[in-house]
Amino acid sequence: MRRFAGCGRKVWNLALNLQQANYAAGGKYISYAAMCKHLTGWRAAPATVWLSDAPVHTQQQALKDLDRAYQNFFAGRADFPTFKKKGRGDSFRYPDAKQFKVDQGNGRIFLPKLGWIRYRNGRTLLGTPRNATVSAAASEWFVSVQTQYEVIEPVPVATDAIGIDLGIVRFATLSDGAFIAPLNSFKKHQQRLAKYQRCMSRKVKFSSNWRKAKAKVTAIHRDIANARNDFLHKTTTTISNNHALVAVEDLEVVNMTRSAQGTVATSGKNVRAKAGLNRSILDQGWGEFRRQLAYKLNWNGGFFMQVPAHHTSQTCPCCGHVDKANRKTQSAFLCTICWYENNADVVGAINVLDRALAQLSQPSTEEGPDTAQIACEVNGAVRPSAAGTHRSDVQEVLYAQ
Ligand SMILES: [Zn+2]
Repeated sequence: MRRFAGCGRKVWNLALNLQQANYAAGGKYISYAAMCKHLTGWRAAPATVWLSDAPVHTQQQALKDLDRAYQNFFAGRADFPTFKKKGRGDSFRYPDAKQFKVDQGNGRIFLPKLGWIRYRNGRTLLGTPRNATVSAAASEWFVSVQTQYEVIEPVPVATDAIGIDLGIVRFATLSDGAFIAPLNSFKKHQQRLAKYQRCMSRKVKFSSNWRKAKAKVTAIHRDIANARNDFLHKTTTTISNNHALVAVEDLEVVNMTRSAQGTVATSGKNVRAKAGLNRSILDQGWGEFRRQLAYKLNWNGGFFMQVPAHHTSQTCPCCGHVDKANRKTQSAFLCTICWYENNADVVGAINVLDRALAQLSQPSTEEGPDTAQIACEVNGAVRPSAAGTHRSDVQEVLYAQ
């Protein structure tokens, strides 16, 4: 399996190299189909003939992945594709259900050139298998099978709408005053990680003790990732099950995290401070949080909305007054006109919800048919009212952990 993943990595790197050389020479982008012809050449060339020991389909998928990475780059959704390194995201995919067999009763899967392999079940497969991906994470191997089946049109159980403000001190604050404390799995494991990283740096590189220390470091990284995934899934499941409409700020997580480094010509300002914030942002996985909310609400028949983020924490939800001075401290909001008082994050969340509802009530020309329907469904919803409530006590709700 490691060898198959290595072949896929080699194909990716060869193709990326060719694509770059071709671009430097003034050539046009090489399409996936054209790249497949090069793959045939590589599998026959004496220097890389070992590629032909692994299934060709998995290598075509590597090319497909690279093609998608390029399309994402062209569309401005992602950075330029990079070369793959050994041991990072090792995986390969069988794109066709004809190539593998799943025997769920006996807990085994048949993979080409690998034969029958036993697995420990994560969940029962429903529907018809479409493709299978084998991946490695910290010396453990996983197989994911994508399946297809009919789903009955979901009817949302929940009826209310909620706004969410994302932050560092509180991971998410809801417009009804509840909040979710951050997990900060990275911080929690940081000391342990630093200890083993030091341990690794003292060893002779590539020695057997160095490898042992490296395995330990990788395992800690896996623990961090697992803890974060668990936290995000529990949180997004609870929120999407309890609310029919969820609105969040439209933050560009990619841009926010990129700004610390700046460009080569103009190095970023406050690099140190921003780097700290960036780590927190990435640590908490805001991007993944939105992605999960979006698809889970879609599954439940709910709606996910993103609204413009400017001044959400400075606008008074009661009288609409926008002023920096409204925000007395990082956490306290007090309107200088009407003396409305609340936690600043709750105010942000209320404003996010208000903006979402305002967007729904005015017919938009861009996405006409959908918004009208959403507005109908949300009209009957119980909206937490901001006006008149001068609450400063915050209800603590533990969603996960
Ligand atoms: Zn006010």
